[in-house]
Amino acid sequence: METLCARVGDAAVMAVVKSDGYGHGAVTCAREALAAGASWLGTTTAEEALELRAAGLTARILCWLWVPGGPWREAIEADIDVSLGGMWALQEVTEAARAAGRPARVHLKAETGLSRNGVRPGEAWAEFVAAALRAQAEGLVRIVGLYSHFACADVPGHPSIAAQLTLFREMTAYAEEQGVRPEVRHLANSAAALTLPETHLDMVRIGIAMFGVSAGPGLGAPEEYGLRPVMSFRASLALVNQVPEGQGVSYGHYYVTAGETTLGLLPVGYADGVPRAASGSELVLVDGKRCTIAGRVAMDMCVVDLGGDTPPVGSEVVLFGPGDHGESTAADWAAACATIPYEIVTRIGARIPRVYLNPSA
Ligand SMILES: *Cc1c(COP(=O)(O)O)cnc(C)c1O
Repeated sequence: METLCARVGDAAVMAVVKSDGYGHGAVTCAREALAAGASWLGTTTAEEALELRAAGLTARILCWLWVPGGPWREAIEADIDVSLGGMWALQEVTEAARAAGRPARVHLKAETGLSRNGVRPGEAWAEFVAAALRAQAEGLVRIVGLYSHFACADVPGHPSIAAQLTLFREMTAYAEEQGVRPEVRHLANSAAALTLPETHLDMVRIGIAMFGVSAGPGLGAPEEYGLRPVMSFRASLALVNQVPEGQGVSYGHYYVTAGETTLGLLPVGYADGVPRAASGSELVLVDGKRCTIAGRVAMDMCVVDLGGDTPPVGSEVVLFGPGDHGESTAADWAAACATIPYEIVTRIGARIPRVYLNPSA
């Protein structure tokens, strides 16, 4: 995080700890990020934001995904900033603010090209800004932020990047002409924070990069930015069995031993975040040696071909880590499974204990 803060200079840093801190543990990661220079926290849901507050974190927190009937009042009372991505949300938040007897701090979300959530440019934006200003005049909201989100910041040079930045500038300029005085205008995610200084504006919202994981193959390895993967996924070898040639392994017998060999049992499966699509890939380090996942990954366990070796039961198994000692990285798993490292780290199951090395507090 220090590295990232230094990289973005004067822009404030929001540490995005949605989805349990990308699988790393939201509360601990939030604390570490704040200790290392971030000044805001970001979550997807209000429930995630409320959990951070309940854990005693006092930093500004923005949450951005709402459905009708959400806990607006609880958010307002917990001093959480909320994102408004449409008229219905403005309506609900003003009702909640009236009930709470205090204004909500809101960030207006401009839809600039991701085509996901937010208010579209043109008439919709004009009406939305006008309605938000009316609510502000009534003392029900304080418009503290204007923001948007990139579609392709991880693809350097993609034409949508400049188009979104230009549109965002136009939409914020319009809102400011109408009288909005935002504390923060923010647009950049990790990829943009790392590679597009012109998008930093008042604040950057950093998720994946804070965990030392690449935001996209087009950006180069995390080391190129001085970043290191935070998460290692380890297990203990649960059993070793000698098997003959021609032995089918795991459900469906999709793996058949090519000769006499040894099989190792790992006590982790797809429910723990070992992708089923990794079956057959040489991704697991057992006792310092790379092994192939033999046959199908099951819900709670999987088998590796130890190639005749007989490491002791209890030997360390490294599924992924920073890559220093021959182990795979989350990016290697992602490549083998046709997905992105985000999905690999966020899917580690609740059954796997998170152990923090060198926590600052
Ligand atoms: C997830 C998210 C981010 C962080 O994205 P990274 O690519 O992980 O840095 C920023 N802003 C919003 C709105 C998000 O949903």
